Amino acid sequence: MIVDFHTHSLASDGALAPMELLRRAKAAGVRQFALTDHDTTAGYLSVRHTNEADEVGLISGVELSCRWATTTVHVVGLNFDADAPAMVAMVEQLTQAREERAEKIAKRLAGVGIDGALEGAKAIANESQIGRPHFATWMAEAGAVDSVTEAFDKYLGAGKIGDAKMFWPPLSDVVQAITQAGGVAILAHPLKYRLTGMKLRALINDFKAAGGGAIEVLNGRQPETDLKRLSRLAEGNGLMCSVGSDFHRDFEYGPKLGIDVERLPNGAYVWDALEASA
Ligand code: AMP
Ligand code: MN
Ligand code: MN
Ligand code: MN
Repeated sequence: MIVDFHTHSLASDGALAPMELLRRAKAAGVRQFALTDHDTTAGYLSVRHTNEADEVGLISGVELSCRWATTTVHVVGLNFDADAPAMVAMVEQLTQAREERAEKIAKRLAGVGIDGALEGAKAIANESQIGRPHFATWMAEAGAVDSVTEAFDKYLGAGKIGDAKMFWPPLSDVVQAITQAGGVAILAHPLKYRLTGMKLRALINDFKAAGGGAIEVLNGRQPETDLKRLSRLAEGNGLMCSVGSDFHRDFEYGPKLGIDVERLPNGAYVWDALEASA
């Protein structure tokens, strides 16, 4: 069976319209699928009642931004009621947070001589949930940098001037928004936060205490060599496993849509729980 529980569309920082993503997922043979845009369910809501959604086994999804101590952490939510007040309120709060952060990023960029970034990034984002990739794209188009990669390396990446992280709600709040809406909360790409082993264990403890249900053992932006380690970590903490490509756009060396579950080690996977509850 082929599944994918972590993907992005134009509703956040992906390149494809939600319907186009469903068509690609279908072509890739995906049987269970989630669109997990950053801090918005707009893409999911726009396609949830279509034939294509049925064909790929679409469930609700989102990737929520939060903070744990000083670290920005991503929590994927799956199979929740997208109309539940807890989820609607959290998405509204995060939309507001992104707006405030965008203003702060633009001010900081103006401080180093890059003017007009807010208007520029908003024009790129259009209706999408605004994020650093929209700033990066505008900076490259405006000639402030040579590439999106350079924009992150010099201005927007972790620890750089445009990395304004303290607007996000605490980890426990976003986990609870997902569980209160009836969904399962998944700690996304646990190794991308560059935590020490001790801190990662502390994060997982706090995540579980808040009601977290699974960790992502396979993510297209995380080396596959970590699969076994993360599977053991999930099992040792009584958490389920989830997998996703984290697809954003076609990119020669980037992840493709769809993961064949046959190649995963034995374990407790979120889709088994979804099938059991269906
Ligand atoms: P945000 O959620 O607005 O803080 O933006 C984070 C997003 O930027 C991530 O989800 C990635 O899609 C993208 N991103 C992060 N680092 C880089 C990078 N070095 N180059 C290109 N895109 C990146
Ligand atoms: Mn992204
Ligand atoms: Mn992420
Ligand atoms: Mn993602």
